[in-house]
Amino acid sequence: YGDFNQKIDYVFKVVLIGDSAVGKTQLLARFARNQFNVDSKATIGVEFQTKTLVIDNKTVKAQIWDTAGQERYRAVTSAYYRGAVGAMLVYDMTKRQSFDHMARWLEELRGHADKNIVIMLIGNKCDLGTLRAVPTEDAQEFAQRENLFFTETSALEATNVETAFLTILTEIYRIIS
Ligand code: GDP
Repeated sequence: YGDFNQKIDYVFKVVLIGDSAVGKTQLLARFARNQFNVDSKATIGVEFQTKTLVIDNKTVKAQIWDTAGQERYRAVTSAYYRGAVGAMLVYDMTKRQSFDHMARWLEELRGHADKNIVIMLIGNKCDLGTLRAVPTEDAQEFAQRENLFFTETSALEATNVETAFLTILTEIYRIIS
């Protein structure tokens, strides 16, 4: 059981970007393994995880890359973006600054990535609703202006995580196939 002998029709590289501590690693853990690790930083150093799924009768291997903490040193390299067909731009909805930095991350992304890359804006930690610092409308407006998909998620409670990844992967598939 697993990938052995499985015919893979497509491999899609998707990168996670955004400030440190917004929940990138946990979103990946939730999507790839349906886990949430209380001790997040145990996973530092992991470059990517894969999950194989079927879209339109084709077997798609999603290869999701995590910065593994590089963003803290502003050292996300061009190698990280190379070959990416999708990007998830993650902010923490309880930290206004992490949303304000989205424009900068987007600029960096557009400077490094393929021009047809599919981008999704993610407001994570929606379980902390009472601490919200970014109104949904602000993010929607930014996403609309910049032509990004947008959703709010909770890696902790598994809210919208699967849907977010499926949306971006399906859109990538639609463009590439
Ligand atoms: P990264 O630096 O962007 O990879 O962020 P992490 O995934 O390491 O998460 C940073 C902190 O936020 C950790 O303490 C996580 O437990 C916490 N965290 C991540 N996602 C969520 C979420 O959806 N809800 C809540 N309440 N906390 C989260």
